[in-house]
Amino acid sequence: MKAAVFIAPNQPLEIREYPLLPVTAGMARVSLLTSGLCGTDLHIWEGALTVPTPVIPGHEYLGRVEEIGAGDARDCRGAPLAVGDRVAVNVVEACGCCHLCETGGDASCLHLLASLTYIRSPEVPPHFHGGFAEANYSPTRFLHKLPDAVPTEVAATFLCAGPTVERGLRYADGVPPGSHVVVQGGGPVGLYAVLRAKQAGAASVTMIGSGSHPLRLALAKRYGADAVLDIRASSVAERRECVMARTGGVGADLIIEGTGNPEAIPEGLALLRPCGTYIWAGQYSDRGMIPLPTHLITFNALRIIGSAQFSTDDRLRYLTFLAEVPAQWDNIRAAITDRFAIADANAAIAKARSGAAIKTLFVG
Ligand SMILES: [Zn+2]
Ligand SMILES: [Zn+2]
Repeated sequence: MKAAVFIAPNQPLEIREYPLLPVTAGMARVSLLTSGLCGTDLHIWEGALTVPTPVIPGHEYLGRVEEIGAGDARDCRGAPLAVGDRVAVNVVEACGCCHLCETGGDASCLHLLASLTYIRSPEVPPHFHGGFAEANYSPTRFLHKLPDAVPTEVAATFLCAGPTVERGLRYADGVPPGSHVVVQGGGPVGLYAVLRAKQAGAASVTMIGSGSHPLRLALAKRYGADAVLDIRASSVAERRECVMARTGGVGADLIIEGTGNPEAIPEGLALLRPCGTYIWAGQYSDRGMIPLPTHLITFNALRIIGSAQFSTDDRLRYLTFLAEVPAQWDNIRAAITDRFAIADANAAIAKARSGAAIKTLFVG
């Protein structure tokens, strides 16, 4: 079976073949249905996030259970697992007993890094630890059984972005019905945030994103955005005017940021109403320092919430949400712009880096 292996930043991934080994106790072998290429994978490829090498990148794996090792096979929620089940593969597991796990911060569990499965060398059996591969071996308790009701590609589209937004919203106590929401960023995090906020009963959702891929802004409209503002065709002042007009001159109640660009932050701070809430979910890697209007945070008593990673609870919320919105499934699937075989991983990286993709999936 093939795997795409990261050797060094800005170097082509190596397509390697490894044998399928017997499954040991407590483990399962999963075959590829879909594996998403995430912004985080691009950050790793570009060297903005450091990982040990060689490694098989990818943490958005959906597969079918092919073989289960000895032992009581249960998934991360305690559901019994069987050969043939469709599962999402978690790459980390919260310990459940550290101070953060006990106080609602399990997505940032103090022992999260130690549990990370996929940063092991593919030279170490059973080889298939990461997502860009035709097979995956994981402990059964790292698998998350998909609800039968949710089609595979619907679950795959926002498999990482969706739970990321769900986690941020948990920290922020949700989307208050009737609230005015601004979403920054037209990638998977931003698009899911638009859909989620609208379905939660937001009075208005304004999406600020780049029209580098025209489908990004079109999808935001299909997901219910009331205004879609292209950063390439409008000024910061014009966008502020638009948000103020929509909110009676008061400003947004809630902003969900998913840009990965620090420059988005000063703009967002000036769009919030007093006591507004700002979720920063997109600043996952260090893109440098920028000047910030810090007085706005104090003067407007703003609530700034950083949000990183997610737990199985957040993924469950995501999957439950998907099951509740079948009318949106075609719209959700429309965000998948590219499907590649594992052997074509370098073409997938190039396309995603060009900005001409929204969701890129490897498919089996
Ligand atoms: Zn991801
Ligand atoms: Zn913990």
